[in-house]
Amino acid sequence: MTENRNYQLKEIKEMLLLQGEDASSLHREANSLTENLFGKSVFVRGIIEFSNVCAKNCAYCGIRRDNRKVKRYHMDKDYIKQIIFEAYRDGFRTIVLQSGEVDTYDHDITEVIEYVKSKCDIAITLSMGEKSREQYVEWKKAGADRYLLRIETTNKKLFKTLHPDDDYENRLKSLLTLKELGFEAGTGVMIGLPGQTAEDMANDILFFKEHDFDMLGVGPFIPHNDTPLKGHTSTAFEKVLNFVSAMRLVTYDTNIPATTSMATLERDGREMALNAGANVIMPNYTPQIYRESYKLYENKICTDEDAERTMELTRATVENAGKVLVMERGDRRARRDEQKQCAGTSVNRPGDSN
Ligand code: SAM
Ligand code: SF4
Repeated sequence: MTENRNYQLKEIKEMLLLQGEDASSLHREANSLTENLFGKSVFVRGIIEFSNVCAKNCAYCGIRRDNRKVKRYHMDKDYIKQIIFEAYRDGFRTIVLQSGEVDTYDHDITEVIEYVKSKCDIAITLSMGEKSREQYVEWKKAGADRYLLRIETTNKKLFKTLHPDDDYENRLKSLLTLKELGFEAGTGVMIGLPGQTAEDMANDILFFKEHDFDMLGVGPFIPHNDTPLKGHTSTAFEKVLNFVSAMRLVTYDTNIPATTSMATLERDGREMALNAGANVIMPNYTPQIYRESYKLYENKICTDEDAERTMELTRATVENAGKVLVMERGDRRARRDEQKQCAGTSVNRPGDSN
């Protein structure tokens, strides 16, 4: 259970295929490492889905460009600021601004970040897709802290079939640019994509480790009826848990959320993930009137609740998992630096017994 343990592809693949008591034992091992690293703490991040306008046509996604049934919306920048301040007053210290992929509102978001950062200490994560280096620089200068951009799958052939508008190398380049610019960088994949193998998923985890990403957002693929992938079945939930546990063991101290899609596939899915290696929860903070229009997949949970109810349910989820909800920023890099400093201090401190 050390950070330097190098897991091989074969071992990871074996973990992903475990079943029954063997799978439960893997989940317990990952939970035990998680508690060694974070105690019982679960960090919370509020997601604001500020726009569902998207120029892209990812084959799996319910808000893809060609889905004409979606009622498109975009929140005004002053309204986005207001929601962030409400989240801050409710105790959130990280918010995630997420949207479809268009360039139209990019400068509005710069203004939102600058304004919010001048008023309160809240970490801002962006999840707005692939952008130019210049755009990422503009957001970093404005004060954005983190960026989430899922690679979705590291199987390049599968990536191509799912993303008519995207190029794998370009997605990777965006991720590396984000890291180079000093963002805490997050990526992730969907589990159970049509044609995806256990070997692909083991490679996904090695990819996370190789590039030392800070946040790993994963969830099951769930079909949406108005997409080309309608009618496909989702994966068994045990596979999702195995993936979470394997990620924890291989990537050690990354921030791993128990995601909404997990709870959509399995009612207690987030509780189970919080006991199998996850240490973050991301409740939806989008005003209720917009939630139904941000339906990425069928039966997405939380669309008929307001922010207050979502927060109550989030607390209950964390408590049911036997964990403690923590309203802190939960930065991975700051935590690492602190730990290094502590280790240095304890070595040099005179009078220490060990
Ligand atoms: N447009 C940005 C992007 O693509 O990075 C951010 C928003 S996008 C809706 C956020 C994530 O939703 C994607 O990275 C994808 O993994 C997930 N997603 C989309 N459709 C999904 C589906 N049918 N099942 C599970 N997750 C899905
Ligand atoms: Fe657009 Fe993101 Fe959905 Fe792709 S995954 S269609 S970029 S919102």
